[in-house]
Amino acid sequence: MSSEPPESHSAASGHSVASQAAQEARRAELAANLARVEERIAGACFAAGRKREEVTLIVVTKTYPADDVRLLAGLGVRDVAENRDQEAGPKAAACADAGLTWHFVGQLQTNKTRSVAGYADRVHSVDRARLVSALSNAAVRAEREIGCLIQVALDAESGSVGERGGVAPDGVMDLAQAVTDAQGLRLDGVMTVAPLTGPLAGRPRAAFDQLSEISTALRAAHPAATMVSAGMSSDLEEAVLAGATHVRVGSAVLGDRPRLR
Ligand SMILES: *Cc1c(COP(=O)(O)O)cnc(C)c1O
Repeated sequence: MSSEPPESHSAASGHSVASQAAQEARRAELAANLARVEERIAGACFAAGRKREEVTLIVVTKTYPADDVRLLAGLGVRDVAENRDQEAGPKAAACADAGLTWHFVGQLQTNKTRSVAGYADRVHSVDRARLVSALSNAAVRAEREIGCLIQVALDAESGSVGERGGVAPDGVMDLAQAVTDAQGLRLDGVMTVAPLTGPLAGRPRAAFDQLSEISTALRAAHPAATMVSAGMSSDLEEAVLAGATHVRVGSAVLGDRPRLR
């Protein structure tokens, strides 16, 4: 008599029945979370008198596995973001066939630019001249064009870099020109994270309004740099009301991250 193994395996996927059930449950959870986030974005667009198509959802998948990224792709997500190269590189490689656009949104050391240039379509955290030249070299070597957003630290002192990355507002134009002049890079726009310190702390709408003004000034000199990346799980409505074109949402889609970030 032949006996069945404890878990029969599907020939097609190699996944056990139990793990298929877990995947199905996770897919349902992600679908429900995505639907809630979509409702929030649509509501904010309506309140702002903006078309829903003016805002792109980028799902921040940091700390979550490549399996989740694949499920998200299956649910129609096209844009994903990561903030650490050590984690993003392998994940992007594991999902290379999913047709996703990869955004790098974390503080970036120059010694990681070669790796990042291998998979990132856009880097939202460009905040210093040295990073521009390192990214440019890496892009040329990889024979890829990388879209760059200038990260603005709205709470940074003039001439300095913010604690969580970002250039002070008065440094944006010089950096934007450096990106424009660099081979392999394309200037796409500006990005910010709502400040935790200074007069804008706890006032995301005021912060995102400032970013919007910076974007207007930037576009006067660089009309193609239309991206405004702002808003996360807790403040995406404020960002949409202030004119964000891209919101970066992690925990509201994937769940609360255990420890760290
Ligand atoms: C983690 C992260 C996000 C998403 O944050 P949530 O609060 O999980 O939505 C957005 N932007 C950056 C730069 C991040 O590091």
